Amino acid sequence: MTKAAMISLSKAFAIVDREIAGISLSSELLPVRKAPGRTIAENQVSRLDLPPFDKSAVDGYAVPAGDDGPEYDVLETVPAGCVPTEVLAAGTAAKVMTGAPVPKGTGKVVMVEQTRRIEGKVRILSPSKAANICGKGEDVRRGQVILSVGTRLGPLEIAVLISAGITEVKVFRPVRVSIISTGDEIVDSPDRLAPGKIMNSNGPLLSALCNRCGLEVVDNSTVADEFAATLSAIRTALAKSDLVLLSGGVSVGDFDFVPGAMAEAGLKMHFSKVAVKPGRPMTFASSCGKAAFGLPGNPVAVYLMFCLFVLRAARRITGQKNHVRLVTLPLGRDYRRRSAERIAYLPCRLTRNGTIEPTEYHGTAHLQALLGCDGLFVVPSGVTELPAGRKVDFISIRGGFE
Ligand code: AMP
Ligand code: MG
Repeated sequence: MTKAAMISLSKAFAIVDREIAGISLSSELLPVRKAPGRTIAENQVSRLDLPPFDKSAVDGYAVPAGDDGPEYDVLETVPAGCVPTEVLAAGTAAKVMTGAPVPKGTGKVVMVEQTRRIEGKVRILSPSKAANICGKGEDVRRGQVILSVGTRLGPLEIAVLISAGITEVKVFRPVRVSIISTGDEIVDSPDRLAPGKIMNSNGPLLSALCNRCGLEVVDNSTVADEFAATLSAIRTALAKSDLVLLSGGVSVGDFDFVPGAMAEAGLKMHFSKVAVKPGRPMTFASSCGKAAFGLPGNPVAVYLMFCLFVLRAARRITGQKNHVRLVTLPLGRDYRRRSAERIAYLPCRLTRNGTIEPTEYHGTAHLQALLGCDGLFVVPSGVTELPAGRKVDFISIRGGFE
């Protein structure tokens, strides 16, 4: 492994994209309500105009177009869910509730708060130009694509489909993932924490990331630093999953058996060194519609490599193109580093005035650093110094409302 060529991140992405193009998932028809977390397998087209009719945005009085008279005869009251029976002519109005269709001939709806009712008439107290009407089809047109293939269904997508009259969707089956945490030092219970041992945080981290991202974890195991055990775990995992995620054992240590075991399991090795910090020993192999990611052992690298590589692959398998939302923001202070060989992702916080401040970070084992940050900023390879004010790419790791 020592002599493996280090490739750029963009080259590594291109290889992953090429190799996972051979992985395809079956799809199934599901009731929309049962499909949260799934990814749609075909574009979804609205069955309805939204709003489906010209509707009142307020409780008030519909008055005729071109008639700004101070007083109108009230013809009828239209509750939401009913239809008007009268057409408005000059001097007439209809009381309408929020969400009710407005009568033909309506120019605007005057808010009830701006009127006074006097027997069968309504008087306008404070004239306003606001129409207070939501026009038929102004939000969505019947036949319009409202969600495109590759969209993952969250609460908003579910509600948008239902509002457009769609109750069943074709979705991909979830991507199946096996997780294998390697290392003689890792234990799954504090009771087993003998000297030299550490808790296995990568297994639970990867499993929780998969769950959050809609990937189905079919197996989550640990394996000692032994070639035969690693090989057997990889074989078992390949038989039941689309993607196999290993952590640890991919570097140049005496007990790093993962790349050798991957090759022995019949996988074609594509790369084992990527010019990214953290994450250099990132290893990728594939064969016959399956892919295996040898993630580094250190937890921050595991997190980043999952987001950059595994999620990229999983999203592309289900038809989505871009899964990372980059924004460009100015640095709040000067940044310097010694070596510029690799592209670097560094924890940072966003200040209230929209600048980026690096946060405390001790390196790739410092998982806690990811809790105290808003996201990661990117230092391109070849760059050692960035002055305050220079714009850098920023990836949020927390949704604003999550
Ligand atoms: P390795 O790549 O196997 O040499 O591991 C690199 C570093 O990551 C070592 O300090 C390991 O102890 C640590 N590490 C490996 N696997 C895990 C794990 N599952 N959970 C937490 N730390 C780990
Ligand atoms: Mg190890």
